[in-house]
Amino acid sequence: MLYSKLVDVYAKLEETPSRLAKIDAVASLLQESDSENLPRIVLLLQGKVFPSWSEMVIGIADKIVIKIVATATGFPESAVVRSYRETGDLGLTVEALMGKKQQQTLGFKHIDIEKVFKNMRKLASVEGKGSQEVKISIVKELIMHSSPLEAKYIVRTSLGQLRVGVAEGVIRDAIAKAYFPDKEGDDKKDAIKAIEWAWFLRPDYGEVACIAKDKGLDGLKKATLELGKPFHVLLADKAPSLKDALESYDNLQIEQKFDGARIQAHKDGDKVWLFTRRLENVTTQFPDLVEMVRKGVKAKRCIIEGEAMAVNPKTGKPMAFQALSQRIHRKYDIARMTKEIPVQLNWFDIVYLEGEQLFDKPFKERRRLLEKVIKATLGKFQLAEPLTTKDLKKAEKFYQEALYAGQEGVMVKNLDATYQPGKRVAGGWLKVKPIMETLDLVISGAQWGTGKRAGWLGSFLLACRDQASGEFLQCGMMGTGVKEKKTAETDITFKDLTDMLKPDIVGEKGSTVRITPKIVIEIAYEEIQKSPNYDSGFALRFPRLIRLRPDKSPEDADDIDRISLMYKQQKGGR
Ligand code: AMP
Repeated sequence: MLYSKLVDVYAKLEETPSRLAKIDAVASLLQESDSENLPRIVLLLQGKVFPSWSEMVIGIADKIVIKIVATATGFPESAVVRSYRETGDLGLTVEALMGKKQQQTLGFKHIDIEKVFKNMRKLASVEGKGSQEVKISIVKELIMHSSPLEAKYIVRTSLGQLRVGVAEGVIRDAIAKAYFPDKEGDDKKDAIKAIEWAWFLRPDYGEVACIAKDKGLDGLKKATLELGKPFHVLLADKAPSLKDALESYDNLQIEQKFDGARIQAHKDGDKVWLFTRRLENVTTQFPDLVEMVRKGVKAKRCIIEGEAMAVNPKTGKPMAFQALSQRIHRKYDIARMTKEIPVQLNWFDIVYLEGEQLFDKPFKERRRLLEKVIKATLGKFQLAEPLTTKDLKKAEKFYQEALYAGQEGVMVKNLDATYQPGKRVAGGWLKVKPIMETLDLVISGAQWGTGKRAGWLGSFLLACRDQASGEFLQCGMMGTGVKEKKTAETDITFKDLTDMLKPDIVGEKGSTVRITPKIVIEIAYEEIQKSPNYDSGFALRFPRLIRLRPDKSPEDADDIDRISLMYKQQKGGR
């Protein structure tokens, strides 16, 4: 299939704000595609060439793209940079410059989707000496054979900034429309549910689209986990108080809510994979944990879930989340890091055992299987200690002990509940934490600081998710909690945030910048107020940065429905 077909759809998506129109455009493209191109198209529509859980990223920098655009269009680099300053988008720059040059070129060949996809994938695998030249030639080859409009999207894809706004929900609904066009009402809901279910277990809509096309609804409903590929985990709901949580379930178990990072470990014989909650593959970063899983799991094939915590090698006490975060992001010197920041694993669930998926089994049964499978080593590799009681006094003591041990609070789990992948469902897990519930929000804009904060972004626009549209809605400005100077390891400075956010700035007007929502931060606040100043309709009063949430992606940020619910709850349910 020609790349120009996909480009037509990109252009439509960019043009229309209407969700339905977007779904229509994507659905017709999917319908036209053969099975071979389908997974490529679905990834490219999301601006990607690898599923989000893959370790591979395209990874090409602005600097290199400027060089490519210069050589491909024949304009000097200075002209490219000048145009880039004006447009703020190298895609628009290449389109404009190629447009100017077009009379002089001999005309372009039409490139196909396969060629673009394969070249983009190649970009991710070139490494080491001379890799810059190779990357330049890979992208240049594509641009030389493209129309100006095609070049715009090739450049944006290579930078990882497609900017056409197809949220995952749009892809999901487009798959439904493309392959189950006759379904209406409840049948349509059923189809969408089946697509979502398949995606929870196989988090790559390219793969899901192929299942829908080739195996239909039944195939989607029968989608299964695959060892070595991550799945979307069950999430916890928030309880207003411990008492409320205890009253929620007939049979329950309380566990500490460890302050670490969730890990799903897959084991297939000697082979082990580790994934975070954001489905990142962190196997290479944790050779110590891989070894512990090999030795400490008495099953040939299984998927277990737990919370990893960094522990101080001298005292054996838990360390701040930031220490673990260093391990998660470390790409070199891993052996030394393993010694300096050892990890402790607290396992709390099992979802797959010796070929059998365990989602339908009640938690009680899953816990029993987990206990059979784990060969514990105290303080290193252990089961989350359970307390089975509905007695408030005993539960409160356990809760206080958890807090005293530096944990976040407790999890109250329904022993009769099945496991629902990808969902934050009432009836499964309830988390109880002491403070006014914090919110996980994204940064969607900022203002350059003045005075002491000059040169840094000084205040940050917070946004929550709107599940329906996939957009982010503003709900406050925050500057508190960010430090001018680092005095403790856990401090986040204006410089830290500025460095982190700068690459995602997509527009600038006066001292205000727009930022692609990528960074998720945890925010504490005094109160939620109604406000006409922000498009969410709410404003946080005195928002304060608690910490970064690198374990969460923007899709995991809290949504407008939650804010609205919390707004009502703070008024005593009125
Ligand atoms: P939150 O990130 O605040 O939504 O809380 C849910 C997270 O708590 C899970 O994704 C886990 O990473 C973490 N967690 C810590 N301890 C437990 C536990 N005992 N059971 C389940 N999740 C836990």
